[in-house]
Amino acid sequence: MKIKRNTIFSYLIRNYFILIFLSIISALVFSYFAIKDIYLDALNEDAETDLILLNESLNENIIENYELLNLKIKDISLKIKKRITVIKKDGSVIADSEQDYKTMDNHINRKEIAEALIQNKAYSIRYSTTLKMDMIYTAAMFKINDIYYILRISRTVKNNEKMLNYFKKNIFITGLLLIIIMTFFVYYFSRKISVPVIKISELSKKASSGILDETIYFDKSLYEIMSLSENFNIMTASLNERINELKTEKEEINAIISSVKEGIMVVNNEGRIIRYNDSLIKLFNREDIDNKFYWEVIRDNELNDYIKNFKKNNKNKIKEIEYNNKILFCSMNHIEYNKTYIFIFYDATEIKNLEIIKKDFISNVSHELRTPLTAIRGYIETLMEEETDKSKIKYYKIIERHAKRLIFIINDLLSLSKLEEQKDQKMVIEEIKLKKFFKHLKILFQDSLSKKDLKLNIKLNIEIIKSDMFMLEQIFINLIDNAIKYTDKGKIKITADENADSYILKVKDTGIGIPEKDIDRIFERFYVADKSRSRKSVGSGLGLAIVKHNVLQLNGTIDVRSVPGEGSVFVMKFPK
Ligand code: ADP
Repeated sequence: MKIKRNTIFSYLIRNYFILIFLSIISALVFSYFAIKDIYLDALNEDAETDLILLNESLNENIIENYELLNLKIKDISLKIKKRITVIKKDGSVIADSEQDYKTMDNHINRKEIAEALIQNKAYSIRYSTTLKMDMIYTAAMFKINDIYYILRISRTVKNNEKMLNYFKKNIFITGLLLIIIMTFFVYYFSRKISVPVIKISELSKKASSGILDETIYFDKSLYEIMSLSENFNIMTASLNERINELKTEKEEINAIISSVKEGIMVVNNEGRIIRYNDSLIKLFNREDIDNKFYWEVIRDNELNDYIKNFKKNNKNKIKEIEYNNKILFCSMNHIEYNKTYIFIFYDATEIKNLEIIKKDFISNVSHELRTPLTAIRGYIETLMEEETDKSKIKYYKIIERHAKRLIFIINDLLSLSKLEEQKDQKMVIEEIKLKKFFKHLKILFQDSLSKKDLKLNIKLNIEIIKSDMFMLEQIFINLIDNAIKYTDKGKIKITADENADSYILKVKDTGIGIPEKDIDRIFERFYVADKSRSRKSVGSGLGLAIVKHNVLQLNGTIDVRSVPGEGSVFVMKFPK
């Protein structure tokens, strides 16, 4: 491991260093004062013992003879190697082992003397200007021959410094030793933390570039490191699993995309094709699609406008487009988070051609059948008029009813194919005055309404609607016709309303209603709900298919709600 600046090791060593340094300083300060106190106490105690012994060696004869007293204390002072002073209670010095007592000034104000006079013994430390060093003065009061004297012993405190210096040196050596030992320990401990951390950092770097196959061997003695390493291993394992899953998913999706018949194209926000399949190449007859702008590949204004519009509105709507003699159904989707657009193109040319053939066939057959059928119906009517035999008339009537039914079907088929032909023609959107519109319609149904004694109520909350007159007429003719057909008593009600963005038109009846099972299918071509009930009324099953077709052409929606036995309501909404 290469130790760099600001590694865990340098961080620990730096801080430990400061810590040890502070400990040594505080140990020094503390021991200096502690040792000084102990030493001074010892000096003092030693002096006190000397004072007691000194007191015992003095008697009344000596104490009153100052010359003798001075000789005596000088003698003792030499033996104990300490200066001795004898002071009277008034502070006057009567003997001193080092100076002439007669020249010495009054000592009453010396701290140790003043205090000893009150509390019998006291000491003080003062700097001696004569000796140029600290002195300790220990004084005690004694009574000799009923007179109080103060005996004082003074000595230098220089030994104290020596002792302290000795301690200082030892503390520094200990500190130095501590630093050396600590460096080894810190190196060892920091490695314990830094090695796995460095390893995790190396592996994370690898993981970010997708290499996830290595795991960390972790040291179980440190909980945090252990759980960090363990979690890292779990994380890489689950990431690995997710990546593999994603890889498989991607491969599956690629396989699906390339095998579908529909052309798939994914376009980024700039408009570049970032993904596509073989079917798209075939559809647009271009090989060099990758990363091209879609408008370079699809050279068709209608299609490009559609794509542009979709990117603007984000509304998915299937659109039929003619491209290179092909009919394509296009649908789109948008992925919000990476701002990509998915386009699917379905080649519906064959289906469309078949549809055209089917439509042509139906319309041709219907045309061909209409003439003979009308003839059959006419002749049957003539036959019935001429026939007197009632039992035969019954059969003629049956033939007439079926012929009529066939004519209905043919007529509906023809109008449906006409509508579909019209599909590509433009609708004529105009302002339709609803009052007038429904007045004309009502006239059409006058007979059939009065035959069944039904009422037709029209309630208009709007006056004008913008729509195609022909289509709207067809819608209402079929809906009112059905309402009359499937209602025996009661009334039919038409309403027109609006809300903020659409016109709402309703046709309501009080008829037999539609069974729930049929309700989803009644708009299908030729679907006749519950044939038994329709038998008495003639219907082709195409009426609602025409209605639905027209409503969708007008960009509207149609829904039906019905309760069997109570009636039905057809609700249409057209955008404004
Ligand atoms: P049809 O020509 O048979 O009336 P439609 O397509 O118009 O065909 O209607 C399909 C089926 O829906 C009908 O057979 C009928 O059963 C049901 N239907 C349509 N309108 C009504 C209504 N107003 N009340 C009850 N049933 C209805």
